[in-house]
Amino acid sequence: MSATTRVPEMFATMVFNDHVMKERLPKETYKALKKTMMNGKSLDLSIANIVANAMKDWAVEKGVTHFTHWFQPMTGITAEKHDSFISPTANGEVIMEFSGKELVRGEPDASSFPSGGLRATFEARGYTAWDPTAYAFIKDNTLCIPTVFYSYSGEVLDKKTPLLRSMEAINKQALRILKLFGDTTASRVITTVGPEQEYFLIDKALYEQRKDLVFCGRTLFGAKPPKGQELEDHYFGAIKTRVLDYMKDLDEELWKLGVLAKTKHNEVAPAQHELAPIFSNTNTATDHNQLTMEMMKKVAVRHGLTCLLHEKPFAGVNGSGKHNNWSISTDTGINLLEPGDSPCENAQFLLFLSAVIKAVDEYQDLLRVSVANAGNDHRLGANEAPPAIVSMFLGEELCEILESIETGSSYNKKDAVVMKLGVHTLPRIAKDTTDRNRTSPFAFTGNKFEFRMPGSTFSVSGPNIILNTIVAEVLSQFADQLESSDDFTSALNQLVKNTYTEHKRIIFNGNNYSEEWVAEAKKRGLLNLKSTPDALPYFVSDKNIELFTKHKIFTSTEMHSRYEILMESYCKTINIEALTMVDMVKKQILPAVLKYSGKLCKAAIEKKTLLSLSCCEPEESLVNRLSNLAACLYKKTSRLDTELLAAKEHEKDLKELADYYRDVIFTSMQELRAVADELEALCSEDCWPYPTYSKLLFYI
Ligand code: ADP
Ligand code: MG
Repeated sequence: MSATTRVPEMFATMVFNDHVMKERLPKETYKALKKTMMNGKSLDLSIANIVANAMKDWAVEKGVTHFTHWFQPMTGITAEKHDSFISPTANGEVIMEFSGKELVRGEPDASSFPSGGLRATFEARGYTAWDPTAYAFIKDNTLCIPTVFYSYSGEVLDKKTPLLRSMEAINKQALRILKLFGDTTASRVITTVGPEQEYFLIDKALYEQRKDLVFCGRTLFGAKPPKGQELEDHYFGAIKTRVLDYMKDLDEELWKLGVLAKTKHNEVAPAQHELAPIFSNTNTATDHNQLTMEMMKKVAVRHGLTCLLHEKPFAGVNGSGKHNNWSISTDTGINLLEPGDSPCENAQFLLFLSAVIKAVDEYQDLLRVSVANAGNDHRLGANEAPPAIVSMFLGEELCEILESIETGSSYNKKDAVVMKLGVHTLPRIAKDTTDRNRTSPFAFTGNKFEFRMPGSTFSVSGPNIILNTIVAEVLSQFADQLESSDDFTSALNQLVKNTYTEHKRIIFNGNNYSEEWVAEAKKRGLLNLKSTPDALPYFVSDKNIELFTKHKIFTSTEMHSRYEILMESYCKTINIEALTMVDMVKKQILPAVLKYSGKLCKAAIEKKTLLSLSCCEPEESLVNRLSNLAACLYKKTSRLDTELLAAKEHEKDLKELADYYRDVIFTSMQELRAVADELEALCSEDCWPYPTYSKLLFYI
């Protein structure tokens, strides 16, 4: 079969989507379900029963035996508990059954998921509830029902609920604005996301020989190979056959799940690649990105490969990020971040743009929080990803237009036009003039913003909860102001003008990697939250609690619990890494070094006996260096051991503990690594206890 028919036929075969629903549900049931999906109305149990039965029949025809409520707890990955469809009959046989009740609600034990103290105060019981705005799908012979996850007393325990709430918040506020512009056709506003996912692929057999990769997902040791990424020969380079086979297989698995996998290419670092889908609504994009990450790992195994999603698997070459392309659109298909063709559309665009500018400036702390974890700390500000300073890139043209609105001066030197909202038409903002700046954390790229700070392991729910909510908040302020004005056009002009004046400090079109920018940003009063422990406390500031409670995204209790989960996870991650290092030194590195130097000594002695003269300079000098370094390694390991034990003393205060892990433990880890890497460079390859960077990065 040709790809022309094969791909469309394969696409979404594993998804209980609109097409299947239409085909398999009675008309009335279909209509009721659609209504629920559109307006979030609750579903009648009698309807749920019919839907469940149709889903089960469809799934069983495809060989499925189990179902699961698929949810997104605070671990950042997805969770599932499989139940079979079997139901015993009176005569000792079984039939395959799935009820509406089972579809709508599940009850996994919540006690083993991170809850940040909520568990202590509330019952351990947790519930999952079907999110009918996301399609059910089949994975691993199991019918997966996308669900939200909450506790017995109603506290939200997952990443999906707040995401859906944030989408609702921006919908509500954006509709108010559209109404002011006289748009009566749009009945819903949604945010759209296209997450570009970076990853590494290495040989599975080599991966399994490294405890650091197995336990931590990143290498904790490793001398620099002779070649890194300096030749820039990997980026967009021809893809190796083994990798191509993997990518083809991955595309097909994703297409079957309805994921719009579109672009694939080699990335900057050796063994690094990227996959980008066509964008979709934020809820779907989030589910699909989770599925993409899962499939990346699963498919790799089939090809004898391991997929590394960690933000910094290898020192010395780029780490992996996840660019979150984000925009706002109406259900009538209008992209609200796209400059339109008429003066009115332009004015509307500039208002939405102003809202984003104000939101990013006022809530730069939250955007930084949304990308904070131990892994991403290695990337941000390391000249391979944006700095930890949040700023926006708008491009020259847009800046000139805003400048002209602010000062009343002409923006276009040739035509001497003074931009006036509601009067003038903006020029089309060419994509290539806005996409040039690759160093900006938050770049306008023609009709969307590209948030480039998220790390590769992140669920995109976090950054998008923040983006949706902060923009919703500013839109609500704008709507309040405009609704109460008598002269809409002049109020609008004033609003865009004032917003630009007050918030233009957040706009920066230059090189974000430069040292000058760090100094300039400081002058402008922008935050530079270099590490996770620096950033996280901002999440629970009064200003931010007010924001999230106002829009009913989180309660204050939920926010504190999330803060705790994230802080704890930072400490735990570094603790595991440090313990792994100590283990590797004691059980692998030191024994290998001692064995190798023992061999050298023996060889030297034998040589001396045979030749009875002192011609053992290489052996002696090498043994000397090895011995000195081994002593140093031993000392540093003992110190790290002691420091790890002392962490207990800081446990009463999470922030203090996290600072301790960053300042003391992490610093010692880096020192220890330097010594081990020097030893690796001195030892023979066959005595080294695990595969080197050269092998991992270049031999696949
Ligand atoms: P590049 O980053 O190289 O300029 P593209 O502009 O083609 O690439 O798109 C990058 C990602 O942005 C893709 O996943 C694409 O689907 C997504 N994207 C494009 N338009 C939108 C939009 N309106 N909303 C959200 N994502 C979008
Ligand atoms: Mg991009």
